[in-house]
Amino acid sequence: MPEHVRAELPGLANRFDTFVFDLDGVVYRGKRALPHAVEVLNLLLDSGRQVFYLTNNSGHTREEYAARLQALGVPAHPEQFITSAWATALYLQRALPAGARLFVVGEAGLKEELQAAGFTLVESVEPQIPDAVVVGIDRNFTYARLAQAQYAILNGARFVATNADATYPAEDRLMPGAGALVAAVAAATERRPVVIGKPNPQILQPFIDRGVIQPERTLLVGDRLDTDIALANTLHIPCALVLTGVSTREDVECAPLEQLPQWVLNHLGELLGDAVDSLLVHPVP
Ligand SMILES: [Mg+2]
Repeated sequence: MPEHVRAELPGLANRFDTFVFDLDGVVYRGKRALPHAVEVLNLLLDSGRQVFYLTNNSGHTREEYAARLQALGVPAHPEQFITSAWATALYLQRALPAGARLFVVGEAGLKEELQAAGFTLVESVEPQIPDAVVVGIDRNFTYARLAQAQYAILNGARFVATNADATYPAEDRLMPGAGALVAAVAAATERRPVVIGKPNPQILQPFIDRGVIQPERTLLVGDRLDTDIALANTLHIPCALVLTGVSTREDVECAPLEQLPQWVLNHLGELLGDAVDSLLVHPVP
């Protein structure tokens, strides 16, 4: 174990010194923290483990995610958050000239990350076609913006999607995700986007290349087989599916090999194994 690990932990948690958690369906659903998530995250941090958060949700900035976790009672800073919005900005910095013009179907968090990366956001695709159309979650999506995105792509703009999740888990139901909007743009243009978010390994590769994340000493915890678990398996990162979000135990039974997790947890408390009842404030009934 590296120096930053200060204490032993029970169960599966002790085998790893770095954890990468998905957010929606793993740490919280809507505004509610999921069972034991706050206690487990605090235990991991107190024991000196590195904790990162990896989300395909492009609606918020890393600063906003850090504030959200702090409000739930988990110490957090923006550098711990890897978002598809931020990863999209990094990708476009490599793919396009500085100051390139973007038409964005997305929310404030995505727009802020792209502006912070030096891009010019345009509200109209005419008369000058933008360099790229970027599509993320947009809860104010309209036919008019779909038509603008279509026109720009059909006239030469690149088509980039923050992620392709068709759904995301809200408090009491599944809601349409960015993937549903990406599908609309793809249908209208008959083009396929470059998808930046999970399961594209590019979203984590820079952290592995810099040695910040060492795959064999890291556990990735997610709620979706087709994004979280598929990504972990591509990068040879041990992974656990937690059943508090989208994918179910039945999904695991018929999943393709590349989407099979090593562990399936009913809730995050099970990272602590048999000690879960004595360590957590609210034992599972
Ligand atoms: Mg999720």
